[in-house]
Amino acid sequence: MIRVQTLRAREKLLSKLPVNGGLLRGTLLERTVRHTRGCPKCARGEGHQVFVLTVTYPGGRTRQISVRRDRVAEVRRWLNNYQELKAAIEAICELNHDLLRPERAASKTRSKP
Ligand SMILES: [Zn+2]
Repeated sequence: MIRVQTLRAREKLLSKLPVNGGLLRGTLLERTVRHTRGCPKCARGEGHQVFVLTVTYPGGRTRQISVRRDRVAEVRRWLNNYQELKAAIEAICELNHDLLRPERAASKTRSKP
């Protein structure tokens, strides 16, 4: 890609970035909790649906955060924003690799030994 095209592609990626505070890293899991006694719902075999956000840190340490049902849609949106932002950052870095290369026009003028 020539320099101008690379810069244009980078601008396009930048303009689409979901840059706001709505970012979350991790995985949202749905689990069923079953009480062993004293719960009619669990006695009927229904159990309780709960949502947990699992976040893994370097070194393999993980953190689990319970998510209220009314915030699940928001959490999914934030997780998606994070993935989009991450993909865009990677794509921009790849374009910047091209920008680090010497320009083709300059290399053409150089005579080969
Ligand atoms: Zn129960």
